[in-house]
Amino acid sequence: MKIMNPATGAVLAEVAADTLKTIRAKYELARAAQPKWAAVPIKKRLAVLQKFRSLLIDRQNLLAKTLTAEVGKPIRQSRNELNGLTGRIDFFLAETEKALRDEKVFADAKGAMEERIGHVPLGVIANISAWNYPYFVGGNVFVPALAAGNAVLYKPSEFATLTGQHIADLLHEAGVPRNVFVAIIGDGKTGAALLRQPVDGVFFTGSYRTGAAIAASTGRRMIKTQLELGGKDPIYVCEDVDVKAAAAGVADGAFYNTGQSCCSVERIYVHEKIYDEFVAAFVAEVKGFKIGDPQDEATYVGAITRKPQLGVLKAQVADAKRNGGKIAVGGEPLSRPGYFYPPTLVTDVGEGVRLVDEEQFGMALPIMKYAKVDDAIAQANATHYGLGGSIWTSDLDKGAALAQELESGTAWVNHHMDITPFAPFGGAKWSGIGHENGRWGYEAFTEMQVVNTKKT
Ligand code: NAD
Repeated sequence: MKIMNPATGAVLAEVAADTLKTIRAKYELARAAQPKWAAVPIKKRLAVLQKFRSLLIDRQNLLAKTLTAEVGKPIRQSRNELNGLTGRIDFFLAETEKALRDEKVFADAKGAMEERIGHVPLGVIANISAWNYPYFVGGNVFVPALAAGNAVLYKPSEFATLTGQHIADLLHEAGVPRNVFVAIIGDGKTGAALLRQPVDGVFFTGSYRTGAAIAASTGRRMIKTQLELGGKDPIYVCEDVDVKAAAAGVADGAFYNTGQSCCSVERIYVHEKIYDEFVAAFVAEVKGFKIGDPQDEATYVGAITRKPQLGVLKAQVADAKRNGGKIAVGGEPLSRPGYFYPPTLVTDVGEGVRLVDEEQFGMALPIMKYAKVDDAIAQANATHYGLGGSIWTSDLDKGAALAQELESGTAWVNHHMDITPFAPFGGAKWSGIGHENGRWGYEAFTEMQVVNTKKT
């Protein structure tokens, strides 16, 4: 498998992909190793993850450079992601013992009968990951999964393979046995081959399309299947905002990570009274974004990771133009080596246009004006997706009330995309099944067993 640099088109490395045979062998070794790992006292498992956290800090420069080289993420944003992961590990380290403790839920009046819940690790799980935030979306799964005593067959995205190998090396160096965390290298076919193994759970982050295929393949096996999928996040900007500040916040929510975030802003609805002013402020803001070499400290917009996505953006913008859309800024890929698309805003569009209806996962954004907030919220919800959304207003109570009307797993007010380890993260509707993070995140990685005792 060739690993490419999307900012230059150069080949960074060649790696051997796993085959059905090697995947089977890795699965069997993981199956044999898992009970021993589960029997390691919890404090020792957590100490190993603590060591992994220290290694992430010690090697930050190398890890950030690799991530930037293979996915095109601006170097500062690569470091942000690594720092964010260490914060999440702190949360997991603090929560694990509480989350996995046995719990007495009932004792009858005479104390004769008692019900206790224990948390048993699932066993061997498959963790099939995406490339856009490999440390975040991978770490949300493999850190609590390992802490809970599971073995993890981890398939990084084919676009973040080197990062996946770094993660495996660091976990092993920290003390996770080699057969307890195992990298499976390859593309979608490799992921499909992994799913043919008799794993005890599947934790997937990626597109709706792949997620739906995975759900169909695991459905009959009755194993835990958690899906973190795509989104089409809407935002509504009320007439009472500080327009310049709101435009800057929305632009960051849309174009951070070069627009390739599952919950980036993908549709803007604005009150008609401030529409023109908002468009002008948004355009001025994004014209200030430095686009270019992702290894440059000053870069804010890096390369689009996958070449075909450039074609998707081109087609969506062309379709918008054919349907009356006007380009307020951007609109054409940059003519330079690598895959670069500038911040783009398209006005005079509505539903029925691909840019408004489909996940774009890149740098092009539609903006629509509304006279009534109820109509805007109805349009915001008129999608199969339900990952995130946000309301922008100077009235926090109004914002919180409107946020509750959004059909999304997370709804922000006056910001977009801030995710902490404390709250559950997951999608409504086609954006997924299950949650990561928070105490709820732990529930996915164990089976609850009720032990009901009665004195004789
Ligand atoms: P993708 O679905 O193409 O690939 C995701 C992973 O699945 C990769 O590792 C890939 O190799 C593997 N895969 C592909 N086909 C497979 C199959 N048939 N069986 C098993 N595995 C298979 O998605 P992507 O392009 O890597 O990621 C972008 C998508 O992920 C976007 O839709 C984005 O919104 C979504 N995403 C969601 C979240 C979230 O937390 N909700 C986070 C990040 C990305």
